[in-house]
Amino acid sequence: MLMETMTWEEVRDAAADGRPAVISIGSTEQHGPHLPLSTDCLIPVGIALAAAQRVPLVVAPPIRFGARSRALSGGGETFPGTLSIRGNTLVETLKDVLVALRRSGFERLCVQNWHYENAGFLWEACDLAFELVPDVRILLIEDPWPAFSEAELAELFPGGFPGWDVEHASIMETSLMLALHPDLVHTDRIVDDEAERHPSWDVVPAPSEFVPRSGVLWHPSVATAELGERFLETAAGRLVEALQTEFGL
Ligand SMILES: [Zn+2]
Repeated sequence: MLMETMTWEEVRDAAADGRPAVISIGSTEQHGPHLPLSTDCLIPVGIALAAAQRVPLVVAPPIRFGARSRALSGGGETFPGTLSIRGNTLVETLKDVLVALRRSGFERLCVQNWHYENAGFLWEACDLAFELVPDVRILLIEDPWPAFSEAELAELFPGGFPGWDVEHASIMETSLMLALHPDLVHTDRIVDDEAERHPSWDVVPAPSEFVPRSGVLWHPSVATAELGERFLETAAGRLVEALQTEFGL
């Protein structure tokens, strides 16, 4: 059910079957010395494929370019390989792809975000697409996680939960990549790092002390494939719950 490997006739039939299409919005962005640039696409596609084991759906090709990386949540724009697009380009791109998915036959679409900086732009793209194809229903998941209890956070983040904004190339993403694509994780290059200064406001241009030299925003050395499996099960379960609730699958 991976659309990029399907033929047009298979897509036509899957849409006619009433399956929703799940599209992930990621980035091409540095993820430290140990994870590939495609991390923000590989993880949500992996989650959608895990959900596809439990409910019928089609996994649409992800949008591989995300909104500009911010120093305090993604390391910023100064790393080679980080390729970002402007917010209005992202809105227009997603809107066009959503309309094209509807024209391909899908009446129910799910937009799943995996790049912190994209979040604010996606709702507008969904709303603009709806103006063009009003017979569509779009489920938007800006944040893949349910509300965790203190006890769950303590288990998932050995050493303490630092906040989702610094979970970039860190415990959760590294664990998920160890579970999904261990061949792409350079475990020998994992470093723990953090910004010298991480205030609760932002500054443009970002002061150099906002940017950890490695591109790692927290402490991935405690990441494990087992933790990754738990994160995967949680995120896939939440996606399934949302699809079942909103689309009656
Ligand atoms: Zn990421």
